[in-house]
Amino acid sequence: MPERNRNWRGLPAECWDVLMGTLVHQRVYGIAGAFCTELARAEIERLERLWSVFRPDSEVSELGRRAGERPFSVSPETSAILGLASELRAFTKGAFDVTAGAAVELWRRAAASGRSPTASEVTAARALIGECVLEVSERTVQLRRRGQRLDLGAIGKGYAADRCVSIYLQHGIRHGMIDLGGNVAVVGGAPDRSAWRIGIQIPGGRRGEYFGYVEARDCSVVTSGNYERNFELDGRQYSHVIDPRTGWPVPCDALSVTVMHASSAYADALATALLVMGRDQGFTFAQDNDLDALLFDRRNLRVTAGMARAFHAA
Ligand code: ADP
Ligand code: MG
Repeated sequence: MPERNRNWRGLPAECWDVLMGTLVHQRVYGIAGAFCTELARAEIERLERLWSVFRPDSEVSELGRRAGERPFSVSPETSAILGLASELRAFTKGAFDVTAGAAVELWRRAAASGRSPTASEVTAARALIGECVLEVSERTVQLRRRGQRLDLGAIGKGYAADRCVSIYLQHGIRHGMIDLGGNVAVVGGAPDRSAWRIGIQIPGGRRGEYFGYVEARDCSVVTSGNYERNFELDGRQYSHVIDPRTGWPVPCDALSVTVMHASSAYADALATALLVMGRDQGFTFAQDNDLDALLFDRRNLRVTAGMARAFHAA
């Protein structure tokens, strides 16, 4: 039997990479720690090649090119994430929707060119959002209408974090952490105490300025904010999160949402969905559905009962 790392006292394997457009930090304890960080990095790179909208050769780009034309045979991972995304779309009543791609692209182009889209361009992009991923057969997918686009930006990092956790567990890791730009997943507790402490950044504050932390074991904690990755057009600030029901970006009112969930893909998608719903509706939805969530806009802190057990103010 290989030595168990339950009482691992050594230094962790630690690495930082830029992947999926964000800083990825891994800290993994145990004899297989360094090996696991390598495997996890390769796995994130593989998923990025499948799902990036910035790579013309990704499956997501190919699905967009074939929209309204022909079905396309996708990898098991793409089929799986689309299944999950469809469940989450129904659960969030359309606040989270991976078919918002055309609207995301419209606003991304506007940000790059500095020219606001016209109302009719937004309406046209809005019309392309909705139940449109057609499973022709298992593993064969088609977007129904020409012009439709997928965007996995609000769930892909979570899914990747779940895959990395599986890799750690397969190799007997008992203490590990991966953070993909605020999308954190942990194995076990921290080696020196019972839980990992995950700091929650003050909305609009500097990196490392926390208003509290969440204690987590064997789960994921994801924070999404409408104050991050904003862009300006005609003197107005716009969020990178789109309301799929209108095609417009959500307001930039410095709202931060944190969701804790066993699955990082769910936590990622739900954090985005609560941002779309906004401070009041988002909190009511989280409470009614027993989610572990907190919403903070620098004035009001709202914490659901489940999250209250894990959250500590700084
Ligand atoms: P971040 O990537 O900054 O952590 P999110 O997880 O909230 O933030 O994902 C935002 C990204 O998801 C956007 O950049 C866009 O690509 C895509 N997106 C925007 N709005 C939605 C939405 N309502 N549903 C699904 N995906 C979205
Ligand atoms: Mg998200």
